Amino acid sequence: MNKIYTMKKIIPLLFIFLIQFSFANDMIWSKTGHRTTGEVAQNHLTRKAEKAIAKLLNGQSLALVSTFGDDIKADRSFKKFSAWHYVNYPADKKYTDVEPSEFGDIIIGIQKCMAVIKDENSLRADRVFYLKLLVHLIGDLHQPMHVGRLEDKGGNDIQVQWFGKGTNLHRLWDSNMINDYGMSYTELAKNLPKITKKEAQKIQEGNIFDWVEESQDLANELYGSVEVGEKLGYRYSYEYWNVLETQLQKGGLRLAKVLNGLFE
Ligand SMILES: [Zn+2]
Repeated sequence: MNKIYTMKKIIPLLFIFLIQFSFANDMIWSKTGHRTTGEVAQNHLTRKAEKAIAKLLNGQSLALVSTFGDDIKADRSFKKFSAWHYVNYPADKKYTDVEPSEFGDIIIGIQKCMAVIKDENSLRADRVFYLKLLVHLIGDLHQPMHVGRLEDKGGNDIQVQWFGKGTNLHRLWDSNMINDYGMSYTELAKNLPKITKKEAQKIQEGNIFDWVEESQDLANELYGSVEVGEKLGYRYSYEYWNVLETQLQKGGLRLAKVLNGLFE
């Protein structure tokens, strides 16, 4: 009797939890996206970096820790990091031309992570924390709508339809397209565009300040790719899936470059 009563109470709660969880999940570069970027980076680490990272992460892979930045979001004690997942600035300005937000942004976050990891006097626990966060943030830096305009919250206010369901431009790029593609992160990482070593090196050129501008350019293009309320589906996917895959690949290759530099 008691058991049945408890189940009756738990099931509705479980539904509420699932609904809330799926909403929260929709606002982030999907777990699959982050893990793909982590997996690509893992495959491009120098032996030295690979060893040092394995030691810090107790053998956990970059793919596994890549979602850490979002996993801690629900915990209010980590609230100060929530502005680190993105940056919004005017479409006709460069990041360096704009006064940074007092709450921080993705570039400030990445720089802080790099500084703590690089500093050999940092506590081990801090180096682990900021390493996990860095893996996440370099992924976010390559979701173009994380470098969108302030007035529409990086496309969050631009409503569109995706296969008949309401969504917005930000969420479309965060999760709708990746999740509908239906591949696991290992499948995605394996099936990214085939590129030569030279092409990979070309992608790794520059630094986070160049990469944020590149993402902003892409965001500006994507703003023009939809009309408010537009019904999107296969045609949009054909047109932009390669762009999305390339962003995952770039994120991974550049994350490897940053990590290789930090653990030289
Ligand atoms: Zn994030």
